[in-house]
Amino acid sequence: MNYQTVLDDIANRLAPLLGTEGRVADYIPALARVPVRQFGIALRTRDGVEAAAGDFDTPFSIQSISKLFSLTLALRRLDDALWQRIGREPSGNPFNSLVQLETEHGVPRNPFINAGAIAVADRLLALGLGKHDVLAFAGHLCGEAIAFDAEVAASEAATGFRNLALANFMKSFGKLDHAVADVLDVYFHQCSIAMTCRQLARAAGYLCRDGAHPLGGGFDAVINERQARRINALMLTCGTYDAAGEFAFCIGLPCKSGVGGGIVAVVPDTLTLCVWSPALDATGNSAIGRRALELFTAQTGLSVF
Ligand code: GLN
Repeated sequence: MNYQTVLDDIANRLAPLLGTEGRVADYIPALARVPVRQFGIALRTRDGVEAAAGDFDTPFSIQSISKLFSLTLALRRLDDALWQRIGREPSGNPFNSLVQLETEHGVPRNPFINAGAIAVADRLLALGLGKHDVLAFAGHLCGEAIAFDAEVAASEAATGFRNLALANFMKSFGKLDHAVADVLDVYFHQCSIAMTCRQLARAAGYLCRDGAHPLGGGFDAVINERQARRINALMLTCGTYDAAGEFAFCIGLPCKSGVGGGIVAVVPDTLTLCVWSPALDATGNSAIGRRALELFTAQTGLSVF
């Protein structure tokens, strides 16, 4: 299959729609300023073949895509012990919802909603790891130095009232071991990491390689095959919040989105791809990114189903 032709076609078809659908995430002031008429797409196959189109080399705020890296880092060390603090069920609620936490006694439904990622950040601190380890890990996976966007991190810290509420709520149930401020410092910084579509398509590669390092030879496995399979399952069921059912129905791939407008998708055993366009639909997923993934699976016939 000529992936470059497929990606070029998708970028051309979507260009007229840029700026016509969705809205940027204006609840984080630093993200509200991102120009909306941008679109990038990049993929990397299991064997290292790459293709990319549009603004694939423009860094953007990875936001909740970072939940993939923090979860992987925690799972590597804790394996099944991680699930003592975090569930594995879709929430069917917005990513920042508080409602289930009360009835479920401070145990987040899954690691991909905000409460779950905050609980993962607490586990990382318990392992002696922190924000710089998440950053270094993502850089190690894509093979390039990457950085926090200090302005985005500060913007979230200044306005992240819901995340503060979620963390305090979990703390009140005794489900966070560390100080709320320390846990949120990890969480806000991991969300502020800036990466490009190409870097994210590379970094996620372990998920289409049974846990082997995305860049291949010489590197140790990132996680084992069973763990990779489980992360893919969680991405499919929980990676796009309360749109996960729609994504499974219309796209049929494990996906993880972020409110920066990026979505990482996995075709197990075949390839990983990343799409990016800043305007979001009502569920907090990139509106054009979602269309791009629909076009990609329609044109290639790739799906887990
Ligand atoms: N940093 C964002 C928040 O906590 C991440 C949410 C997202 O990308 N869905 O609200």
